[in-house]
Amino acid sequence: MKKIKRLNPSRPALWFFCFQETFWVLDSGQLPRQTLESLALDFDQSAPKFLMGYHQSLPCILVDLQHQTIDLPQGQWLGLRELMLDASEELALMAGRAWQVANFVRTHQFCGQCGNRMLSINWEVAAQCRDCGHRAYPRISPAVIMAVVKDDKVLLAKNKRNRGQVYSVLAGFVEVGETLEQTVVREVKEETNITVKNVRYFGSQPWPFPHNMMIGYIADYDSGEIKIDEHELMAADWFSKDELPEIPGTHTIARQLIDAVLNR
Ligand SMILES: [Zn+2]
Repeated sequence: MKKIKRLNPSRPALWFFCFQETFWVLDSGQLPRQTLESLALDFDQSAPKFLMGYHQSLPCILVDLQHQTIDLPQGQWLGLRELMLDASEELALMAGRAWQVANFVRTHQFCGQCGNRMLSINWEVAAQCRDCGHRAYPRISPAVIMAVVKDDKVLLAKNKRNRGQVYSVLAGFVEVGETLEQTVVREVKEETNITVKNVRYFGSQPWPFPHNMMIGYIADYDSGEIKIDEHELMAADWFSKDELPEIPGTHTIARQLIDAVLNR
């Protein structure tokens, strides 16, 4: 990924025009994939621009309009969540990446060490302080997410922060100085009083709300009775394949974990 100085108006690209926390989609509901000149979009070209990678051999370009007010020639601004729900997995990842880069640029204008203005570096996504040399990179916050298995059942909980009746696997942020496996054991114990064993890696998913990396694990029940942490959870229980409550959508690693352990 690198910063772009000038856009080539006649080269086709897949465009991620970011305004506040939304992206421009055309009347078709799709992200623009054509030349810049054919888009007829009038904007301040000093906006930060990044080449994020390629999709079906088209360069994927982020233009962070920040708070520029733009008259759209067509289409609308669509929130990141809606955009990701409709997109293929690859495009959803790219949209998440676009938002995280935009968010990084906006929140690293000044040095966290001396308070002077930061400059962006051209060859990688980073900001550097001209005065003290402090360099910052996009923040990624690791969180573990785990399916705890007991016989043919999985431990699911209803979180206080989630609206509705959705039950999901447990998750929690990694603390400094902790291994991921230690986080799994600690979080399950803290939130449900359950002790787990045989913690093993499942897979990962970037979750750009705002900059989390979800690292999935499966763990076996070892001992204990469920006693929930009432600050975090509203309910928790063991569920088998045939008696599942409402669970997260198929695009989430939470759902993939549930499906995997229940062999659905
Ligand atoms: Zn500084």
